[in-house]
Amino acid sequence: MDHTAEALDTLQHVFGYPAFRPPQQEIINTLLNAEDALVIMPTGGGKSLCYQIPALLREGCAIVVSPLIALMQDQVEALQQLGVRAAFLNSSLTPEDARAIEQDWLDGRLDLLYVAPERLLQARMLRLLNQLTPALFAIDEAHCVSQWGHDFREDYLGLSELHQRFPEVPRIALTATADARTRQEIAERLKLTEARHFLVSFDRPNICYRIALKDNPRGQLLRFLRDEHREDAGIVYCLSRKRVDETARWLAEQGFNALPYHAGLPAETRAEHQRRFLREDAVVIVATIAFGMGIDKPDVRFVAHLDLPKTVEAYYQETGRAGRDGLTANAWLVYGLQDVITLRQMLDQSQGSEVFKREEQHRLNAMLGLCEVTTCRRQALLAYFDEHLENPCGNCDSCQNAVATWDGTEAAQMALSAVYRTGQRFGVNHLIDVLRGAENDKIIQNDHHRLPTFGVGKALDSRQWKSVFRQLVARGYLSVDMTRFGALCLQESARGVLRGEVEVQLRQDPKSSSAKRTTKSA
Ligand code: ADP
Ligand code: ZN
Repeated sequence: MDHTAEALDTLQHVFGYPAFRPPQQEIINTLLNAEDALVIMPTGGGKSLCYQIPALLREGCAIVVSPLIALMQDQVEALQQLGVRAAFLNSSLTPEDARAIEQDWLDGRLDLLYVAPERLLQARMLRLLNQLTPALFAIDEAHCVSQWGHDFREDYLGLSELHQRFPEVPRIALTATADARTRQEIAERLKLTEARHFLVSFDRPNICYRIALKDNPRGQLLRFLRDEHREDAGIVYCLSRKRVDETARWLAEQGFNALPYHAGLPAETRAEHQRRFLREDAVVIVATIAFGMGIDKPDVRFVAHLDLPKTVEAYYQETGRAGRDGLTANAWLVYGLQDVITLRQMLDQSQGSEVFKREEQHRLNAMLGLCEVTTCRRQALLAYFDEHLENPCGNCDSCQNAVATWDGTEAAQMALSAVYRTGQRFGVNHLIDVLRGAENDKIIQNDHHRLPTFGVGKALDSRQWKSVFRQLVARGYLSVDMTRFGALCLQESARGVLRGEVEVQLRQDPKSSSAKRTTKSA
């Protein structure tokens, strides 16, 4: 049966949007026909409406399983503001409050009830569910069921019971994690074997991806903004609050309507800056990653990163705030070896377990890999999300200015053997001194002037050697050991290079990025 008319009516009159984004309509129809759905959609794509609208149109109250208490609360508040009868049950409530919500539910006064996964399968809850057949089950962040993933939640495994207990209630599982293995795991573990799959592409064809080496970051940013975005709204992301404040002040001095945004500012200031960004023309928000959640401004013309994001997911999400209106937009980033070292340091000082840190390390390496690819960035980005793009896109810096490469095999061998012969205890500057044959105190003290690698690398200057080391780190031949002040260590894969079994093609860094202007026609 086709439910288009009633779904559209709800979209317009309850949520105030004129039209569906593909494939929201089809997903809604699937649930309204009491069939199951598995939805893979990038963050910000509009997953929530896919179950919120059927929740309003089907008999009974919909149950939404969500792992994050804070998000649950936000969603419920947003719905209540639209006049939707929504509530949540989780550990943040007092028993009395929880009873009151259960009573509302029993009395038929709720359309949507958000529930923490550990609560759903408790005897008390199951008794209620048996009395009050739900309109549907929505399982948000469904990748939490995957044991291999980052966000595995034991409680999600129990959700497979829903199918046996309530076979007639349609289910929808949603996630932004796209890889094929996770997808299959979700379908298997949640017993969604009959579900229709909806895969929304991660491609944002109107965004031009550009990544350059950090040289003089402020100068580079200024040139980018002056040449291409004089009159545009955009976001500049920085890693620290301090850098946000400094950059915003500096951009304001350069004549831009720039405003800072980070969690250290008073709530009123943040709200005010956000409001001005949304309402005024050509406001540049300089922000930490605290900015962006739930911001839906269609005409953001650029997103600039002055610091390297920690993961490809973060990069994708942050750059994805540009060009929601479908018109051309730029995702611009500058990075350098120091970014890697800073991020590693932050990671090392974080509270996580060893496994967590190792996983984060891999994710950071993937981000670095994206920076250093010599081929189409969009193909690399989509490949990360398990999506295959047939041809180079023509709308990224690699496609627009063919990347010059050089055979860096010999240089890589020299660099790696310098690391090896100095005992994997030194940072990049000392290693360059060894390679270039600098006779300074540190070299003499360590007897490094007697090494066979001493002075073998005079053909390259220290800037070129930095580039070699940066790329060797990015490709995982070397790792940075933060417990030993940034000492470079060999990774297993370095062996093949040292033995001459692997050829290493390196990116030719521009002489100086200020000398090279990338002019882009619209
Ligand atoms: P996700 O859960 O996929 O990250 P959300 O459901 O939070 O995405 O939606 C992201 C934003 O897009 C929200 O601000 C939402 O209101 C908006 N949105 C969703 N669907 C539509 C639509 N059809 N038209 C306009 N805006 C929409
Ligand atoms: Zn490309």
